Formats: sequence, C-alpha cells, structure tokens
Amino acid sequence: MPGYRANNGGKIPARFAPPDPEKTNMPPRITTIGFDADDTLWQNEAFFRLTQDRFTSLLADYAEADHLHDRLLAAERRNLGHYGFGVKGFVLSMIETAIEVTDQRVSASVLAEIMQAGREMLEHPIELLPHAREAVEAVAADHHVLLITKGDLLDQERKLAQSGLGDLFDGVEIVSDKTPPVYRGIFQRHGRAPEEAMMIGNSLKSDVLPVIAAGGVGVYVPHGLIWALEQAEAPQGHPRYHELADLGGLTDLLHQLRSPENQMPRNT
Ligand SMILES: [Mg+2]
Repeated sequence: MPGYRANNGGKIPARFAPPDPEKTNMPPRITTIGFDADDTLWQNEAFFRLTQDRFTSLLADYAEADHLHDRLLAAERRNLGHYGFGVKGFVLSMIETAIEVTDQRVSASVLAEIMQAGREMLEHPIELLPHAREAVEAVAADHHVLLITKGDLLDQERKLAQSGLGDLFDGVEIVSDKTPPVYRGIFQRHGRAPEEAMMIGNSLKSDVLPVIAAGGVGVYVPHGLIWALEQAEAPQGHPRYHELADLGGLTDLLHQLRSPENQMPRNT
C-alpha cells in the first residue's frame, strides 16, 4: 500500500515504540543538526591571513616571512591553553612573536599597529558563504538546529547577530574547545542522543572527528583555507562520515540518509 513500508523506520503506527537502533542495527533518524560558524557559514580564515600578511610586512626588517609564520604558529599553539581560540589570542600571539623576533626591540608603534589590526578583525563585516542561509533555513523547519562554535564569546555573538541567521537556530553553543565530551554534553543539554545528531563544518579536527567519536554523523564541507592547527585526516570509509562540496548539497544528503536502503539493517 502506498506510503507503507514494513519494518524500515518509515511509517510506524504510533502505538509501537520506535525500533531500538542497538538491536536492529539501523541508523537512527537525524533529528538534530549542528553547524560550525567560521568558514562554514561565513568567511573567517581569509581575514586571519590578511592580518598575518600585515604582520609580516610590519616585521619585514627583522624576520623572513616563512620564519615569522613558523614562530607565530608556535606561539599560537603554546598559547591556545591560555587564551583559547579567536582573535584576542591571535593578537597576543602576534605581539609575543614580535617581541621574540626583534630581541625585545619592537617599537610601541608596531605593537599599536598589531593591536589595531586585531580590532579591525573584530569589526569586519560578516560575509556569508554560498548556500549558508538556504541550508540552515531548509533544515530548520524539521530539525533541532544548533550553532556550535569556538572562539571569542563577544566576537562570535557579534558575528551571529550580523549574519542575520540568529533566529534560525534553536540553540547557540560557544565553547572553548570541540571534543567528543563537549559534543555529548551539548546534545544531552538539548535532550538529544549523539546518534541522532549531525555536525557540519569545515574542520575535520573540530567539527567532524569528535562528533563521529561521540556517536554522531560528521559532515565535512571543505573551505579551501584552513588554519594549520585545524588540519586532520579524513576518516574515509567511515559509515558516519560524509563530505559535501558546499552547503547546497545538505538537503540531498539528508534525503539520502533517510532513504529505505539506509534504513535497512546492515551487516545481515
Ligand atoms: Mg570552522
């Protein structure tokens, strides 16, 4: 009969409990979708690169560009645990690197320029990425939709407000790091099992691998520019790993995950 499919997670009379995924080996339906913000919904890394170029020219008399980048990256890596992710930590790492590579002779005017570059980053208008609004709108109607991002609290709040996407989200989570326990905690707070959650982002390290480790689905949408400290290997072949060229493919992916062949028991 039309619309009826036996034992496939499709039309199940309300009096029956939904199938237990543990017993049936069926992938549960995705009810919750998390979006990363920076370089997933809007541009971010490009502004860091521009500021880094400005930093390089400010210190051109003291250090070659490659050497300076290495020193800056090392400073950012050792400072992450102190300052967290975001523009403020980046500015402090640039200042620290400037002091180092000049043997403490960097002028106050150069330090002032570095701080000014940081303030400009914090004021830069939002540039939404292609399909960002349509993708969030398309899934917001029938999913619990979350924005999950790292970075400076104030800056991320500002960017979300300027993006005009704020009203589409059921929840906004600005976290200090993205690890499996952090994701589990977020989904739990929203009353969702990790197994029914999907996270979409441009960082395999932060948006994809920890969500898969937590039991959810990870969707990688490469941006092209990625910070060296966010690089990781793709878990190719993992059943809960997917890759999209851009957010325009999200609704098709969700449709595909709901299709009958994906709802049939696996490994039997
Ligand atoms: Mg990102």
